[in-house]
Amino acid sequence: MTVPAAPPVTRVATHCPYCALQCGQWVDGRGDVDGREFPTNRGGLCQKGWTSGSLLAHPERLTTPLMRTSRSTPFESVTWDAALGQVAGRLRDLQAEHGPDAVAVFGAGGLTNEKAYLLGKFARVALGTSQIDYNGRFCMSSAAAAGNRAFGIDRGLPFPVTDLDDAEVVLLAGANVAETMPPLMGHLTGARLVVVDPRRTPTAERAVASGGVHLQPVPGTDLVLALGMLHAAAVDGHIDADYLAERTTGFEDAWRVAAQWWPERAERVCGVAAADMRTAAGLLAGASRRYVLTARGAEQHAHGVDTVSAWINLALALGLPGRPGSGFGTVTGQGNGQGGREHGQKSDQLPGYRSISDPAARAHVAGVWGVERTACPDPAAAPPSCSPRSAGPTARRRCSSSAPTCSCPLRTRTPWPSGSLPSTSSSWPTYCPARRRWPPTSCSPWPSGRRRRAR
Ligand code: SF4
Repeated sequence: MTVPAAPPVTRVATHCPYCALQCGQWVDGRGDVDGREFPTNRGGLCQKGWTSGSLLAHPERLTTPLMRTSRSTPFESVTWDAALGQVAGRLRDLQAEHGPDAVAVFGAGGLTNEKAYLLGKFARVALGTSQIDYNGRFCMSSAAAAGNRAFGIDRGLPFPVTDLDDAEVVLLAGANVAETMPPLMGHLTGARLVVVDPRRTPTAERAVASGGVHLQPVPGTDLVLALGMLHAAAVDGHIDADYLAERTTGFEDAWRVAAQWWPERAERVCGVAAADMRTAAGLLAGASRRYVLTARGAEQHAHGVDTVSAWINLALALGLPGRPGSGFGTVTGQGNGQGGREHGQKSDQLPGYRSISDPAARAHVAGVWGVERTACPDPAAAPPSCSPRSAGPTARRRCSSSAPTCSCPLRTRTPWPSGSLPSTSSSWPTYCPARRRWPPTSCSPWPSGRRRRAR
């Protein structure tokens, strides 16, 4: 008697579906995962990647649509035609009753480029709604806006992570990559790290072990820390004057803000010792191959754009971007965070990173789609209502309208010319980092002798 041979298990080369490192992996029909040689992970995976295949065969995984007739009845399996017919019918009814904007669309950085493109087109052409956005609004939009301010373009991480292999010093602002994307640490083995994080994370431990520094600011004060470091770099003679003269404009504006944040003053607000700021700035300045990288910890703040701008300013002042072996970048979080915001699911952008406020861009995309220009709504034609948050005399007062034509008196922010160094926060009249608000009058609460939060 012979035992029939088991059918061969085929496996496919793919990528981990989770984070932006997009580690290469093999997955077979049983959901078994193996690491695959790929530049970002070199065969390694983290726990999320190793277990990603288990979803494929999980008994609770949905394989058909489920519907119920009321909240009290159980879900029942239905055909795709029935489910899609129900959804389409309800959308039609809602829009007939309340108008096209009654339906909103929300995408995510986990979508592929193609799906993000189709989602934007579906919202604007099929549904005719102007209400579309994606989860990067909170996640990386601060980095995108800061990149646009400084460079005129948002490129996230504008170089392959393998470029970090030869780095001597890397500043990580708000990134705990040792826990969130461990294979990335394999690219940082030769670098001294400067880690900016209120928590003593494994990445911060690695910074100390590598001969670098862990800068531990009070939560919400990273902007002050970045300004203090720019101040330290300038006073200690680390500024690359030739680079600034040849490749940038507006350093005077950036310095006008940073000049107010000498390290000892910044220390009183952010809690990081002035000596550590100088050490970190000196480490970056003294290396020939160095990077400044920001991530969600720096970006996910009410004023995250200003914080990222301040880190970009430091990188520019030291002459990093655009030089072989050095640069500024943003560590992307989700699998397709960058592609997701380039292909039309972001509220202010059409596919190809075209601005929805640009009439030529709207006409171009409408032509590609073969629809009337009105299918791509002009935000200036119907400015959204302006609802400044002004709950009381001490509340942060700012205009939340995205309409360029908004004439609200709280809309005091001025646009930055592309290619220039943004003078962080100078457009907010009296921003007080110690109180973390924009008080109506100037505020100078700087008691001496307090290292932590000055109120
Ligand atoms: S580091 Fe990111 S891409 Fe790599 S295995 Fe982990 S979750 Fe997946």
